[in-house]
Amino acid sequence: MTTQASTPAADRRRPLLNRSLEGMGTTIFAEMSALATTTGAINLGQGFPDTDGPEAVREAAVRALREGRGNQYPPGPGVPELRAAVAEHQLRFYGLDFDPDTEVLVTAGATEAIAASMLALLEPGDEVIAFEPFYDSYAACIAMAGAKRVPFTLRAPSFRPDLDELRALITPSTRLLLLNSPHNPTGMVLDDEELRAIAALAVEHDLLVVTDEVYEHLVFEGAHRPIAALPGMRERTVSISSAGKTFSFTGWKVGWVTAAAPLVAAVRTAKQYLTYVSAGPFQYAVAEALRLPDAYYEDFRASLRRRRDLLDAGLRAAGFEVYEPQGTYFITTDIAPFGAKDAYAFCRSLPERCGVVAVPNSVFYDDPEAGRSQVRFTFCKKEEVLREAAARLQRLRG
Ligand code: PMP
Ligand code: GLN
Repeated sequence: MTTQASTPAADRRRPLLNRSLEGMGTTIFAEMSALATTTGAINLGQGFPDTDGPEAVREAAVRALREGRGNQYPPGPGVPELRAAVAEHQLRFYGLDFDPDTEVLVTAGATEAIAASMLALLEPGDEVIAFEPFYDSYAACIAMAGAKRVPFTLRAPSFRPDLDELRALITPSTRLLLLNSPHNPTGMVLDDEELRAIAALAVEHDLLVVTDEVYEHLVFEGAHRPIAALPGMRERTVSISSAGKTFSFTGWKVGWVTAAAPLVAAVRTAKQYLTYVSAGPFQYAVAEALRLPDAYYEDFRASLRRRRDLLDAGLRAAGFEVYEPQGTYFITTDIAPFGAKDAYAFCRSLPERCGVVAVPNSVFYDDPEAGRSQVRFTFCKKEEVLREAAARLQRLRG
């Protein structure tokens, strides 16, 4: 037989992992949660509540399971009950009118909504402008779509976007703005003026906007304003949210997209080939959750605001520089007051030093220097857990 030299056998020696995912081995959330498990430390790293959401919603899932609703493949776009509830929610809170049949799509968490949006709307060579620090799956999904991420850096202490900088980042290759407000990890919430300026740029340059609003019900001052509600935005915006954060069921992985019909059709096409469908019985339960009275949403926010204040005070007392978040359930801090520079090394040693786990923001930056000394803590934990964590962190004062 002939030589193998120039046959595909040579290619088999290349790295197994697709080059676009190089360096993205294990998410920082998984790594830090594993560290919490092995050390027994309090996990203020990965953002998941230590108390499940409302009992009535959990019971609704059990009922759906028992009654055989959703135990077989639900419809591709999501069960009609949930699509209707998502449309009602958008109208009730934001005055946005979406057709549940053509303008709502149920996904496997916000994560799949992000992935499907990137895969559907991008082509190789397209540029995507995204806030930096960025939620980790953005980088991976943009890379999997073969597009290029262009970081738009939010800087401490306020993390407010510099809109002149945004204007300067737009090129003829820019296809899409990927927004996230309330912003993970900084807690920055875009104000009306910033939203208007971003919307004006999107219209002027005819850009698509994908906006991740999973923390929409965790804004501590004022109210969340979806960019889709601004003039000229409805037809170019894909809005993403999820039941994980608002209803404290992060394991159910029920998310959704609302957008104009052509955008939903595009995202649905990609979504069909990712999971096709997921979480059948949970979809019925989330439909009930979305219809909870205003008191639920108000209590949820008030409870997290209290816990924000508790952890904020604890972190300050321990000596951190604290950037108070306006939204989300995360607090970004700086470790410079401890004479430390490397957030990753700091987080690796934190369980041993004081029995607490946090997440280094440095991994959410392209430029590792930019967020090198920033560390994120979550406060979606019971008050007594936060108090105990705050007490342990005092040990850092040495
Ligand atoms: N976007 C942001 C900004 C997040 O913090 C998270 C984490 N929940 C997600 C998306 C993913 O949401 P889900 O768990 O619904 O996939
Ligand atoms: N969104 C969660 C966080 O920021 C993590 C979710 C995940 O582990 N992918 O902590």
